[in-house]
Amino acid sequence: VSEQAVTDELTGLSNPRRFRELMAKEHERAHRFGHDLSLIMLDIDDFKQVNDEHGHLQGDEVLRMVGRVLDEESRGIDEPARYGGEEFAVALPETDLEGAVELAERIRSRIESERVPGVDGGAPLHVTASLGSASMPASAANAQDLVASADAALYEAKRAGKNRVVTASARSQAGQS
Ligand code: GH3
Ligand code: MG
Ligand code: MG
Repeated sequence: VSEQAVTDELTGLSNPRRFRELMAKEHERAHRFGHDLSLIMLDIDDFKQVNDEHGHLQGDEVLRMVGRVLDEESRGIDEPARYGGEEFAVALPETDLEGAVELAERIRSRIESERVPGVDGGAPLHVTASLGSASMPASAANAQDLVASADAALYEAKRAGKNRVVTASARSQAGQS
């Protein structure tokens, strides 16, 4: 398969198709070797406003910055991907929930402190992101559950006020009490 078919052009990260293949492969490996598999889902906060106020080219610069942060903060075996328009995912083989939360918080904090150069000589911009994390087997039984749990945690992070990390296990513990 050519690089182009599996890579997102704007960020250079894996595209959704590649991401789905990776998740299937890593799920299989985690299952076979009894390893943890974690997942971080990220969505940029108020991204529509960036596009509306500064245009799509400025939005693209923000997407590139987020892609770069994910690439720089990930270890060699981690698999950052552009999951959708302004949504990203990082698959973390052999990583438990604690490790995933640590990385998610580091990513959140890096994005918050980055300054994106203004296009057409505009002032530099800063953005924030919300993140959800989940782990197999701690908070999900299979790869499909893992994506659903991380996504639900991300939704909680948005509801709770954005620019934060929510973990799936904390969510279900809260639900049980
Ligand atoms: P929230 O904080 O709740 O995530 O709000 P939001 O505005 O980020 O989220 P919403 O899902 O309402 O809107 C996402 C917007 O992202 C819609 C569209 O303007 C923009 N968008 C999606 N994909 C792309 C893309 O590939 N490039 C650019 N420039 N903008 C995109
Ligand atoms: Mg979104
Ligand atoms: Mg958004």
